[in-house]
Parts: sequence; C-alpha cells; structure tokens
Amino acid sequence: MTKSELVIDLKKVDKTFDGPAGPIHALRSVDLQVASGEFVGVRGPSGSGKSTLLNMITGIDRPTNGDVNIAGVLLNDLNENKLARWRGKNVGVIFQFFQLLPTLTIIENTMLPMDFCRVWKPRERPERAMHLLDQVGLADQAYKLPNTLSGGQQQRAAIARALANDPPLVMGDEPTGNLDSKAADKVFYLFEELVKQGKTFMMVTHNVDLSSRIPRVVDVLDGELFDNGNGRQ
Ligand code: ADP
Ligand code: MG
Repeated sequence: MTKSELVIDLKKVDKTFDGPAGPIHALRSVDLQVASGEFVGVRGPSGSGKSTLLNMITGIDRPTNGDVNIAGVLLNDLNENKLARWRGKNVGVIFQFFQLLPTLTIIENTMLPMDFCRVWKPRERPERAMHLLDQVGLADQAYKLPNTLSGGQQQRAAIARALANDPPLVMGDEPTGNLDSKAADKVFYLFEELVKQGKTFMMVTHNVDLSSRIPRVVDVLDGELFDNGNGRQ
C-alpha cells in the first residue's frame, strides 16, 4: 500500500487524561492504517478508548504522543482554527444521539457544514441539501424540526449533514446505538452504500449482527488496539 492511499495513519498514539486518582491511559501506543475505501468497525467494552480513538482521527481531540496523519495531513501541526476548517471539509462525523440543532429544520441542519466551509455557493446549498436528504429517504421531512422525526429519521438526517461537504472520510461513534433493529438496519444499509460510493467509513458498534457484516473489525481493549485485519471474524 503506498502512503498516498492511506486515509488513516496513526503512529504510536498515546492519549492520557488527568483523572482524580492519577493518569488515565485512554490510548496506549496505537498504530492503525486504513486505506481509502475501507469499511472498518471498532469494538470494545465501555471505557476502553473507542471514542478517544475516533476523536484523535477527527481532530476533535489531540494525542499526548504520536502522529495522527489523515489523508496526508499531519493533524498535530494544525492549530485549532485550521483543524476546524480541515475537519469541516474532510471528515463527516455521526454520533449516537444525532446532535442535530433543535431549532433548525432538517434542511437547515444539513446545510450548516456547507455554510461553515463555503465549498458550495449559497444559492447551490439548498439544492445540494435536498439531494442529500433525498438519498437518505428524507426529502419529505426537509422543513420539519428534528424532534418531530423518529430516531432513525434523525440519524439519517445526521448522515446527510455528515455528507454535506462530500468528505472522503466518515466516522460514526455508535451511530446505531440508540436505534431499534429495523432503524439500525436502514442506517447500516446507508453506510454500506457510502462505502460503495468510495468513502472510507469507520464506526464504533456493540451490535454483533452489524459488526459481522463489516469487512474489517478492530478491537480496543484497555487503550490498546488489536487489528483483526481483513476478513470477517
Ligand atoms: P469508550 O468510548 O470506549 O467507552 P472513551 O474513549 O470514552 O471509551 O474513554 C476511555 C477512558 O478515558 C475512560 O476511562 C474514560 O473515563 C476516560 N476519558 C475519556 N475522556 C476523558 C476526559 N475528557 N477526561 C478524563 N477522562 C476521560
Ligand atoms: Mg464511547
């Protein structure tokens, strides 16, 4: 694999938090390489470091030691301002509890990252947002407020928002964790479609049925990463 094909390249990443009873080693010397177009699942018990790992890759948080290289950009070198701009264009993030802004309509939520990054001209944004909502099956919900939608619909809106700036990398932190199995299945199908379209997609999941459908799964245990490689476990 050449370096340019790597979307995620972590080298000896440590993350230590100050806890009341001393340091908490959330990540210990984590190495991880993910190539463009891969679909990677992350498993592990609660508190093992999964969210911390995702936060390193999205630049939401910084490592204590080690290098975080995402699509050829060393995030360690970016200041907060540059990091926020970089993230807006390069990574879509999907959370367990959707994180839609409650006072904005679904289409306004979908346009927010476009307004922030200005890749698309203002007059192009509503049309693009509507196209994304159509892709996730929500065109008819565009002018509603988030709390009038089901959990599954809200998560599909969050997926549309994550795709707003057409990022090459999409990350999900337990994105089906708050959904019933039918809604989770629908959301998971959209993730499979993303990968078919060439996105690199990484998601944390506790769901055994879903993780068995992910081609590559890594385990995080007590801050250490164990890569099961390609091939189903
Ligand atoms: P997971 O997502 O696997 O449940 P986390 O990555 O959230 O685990 O947390 C890993 C460890 O780091 C836990 O012990 C957690 O309490 C600790 N931790 C996470 N974030 C912080 C923080 N901001 N401050 C202090 N400790 C933290
Ligand atoms: Mg977590």
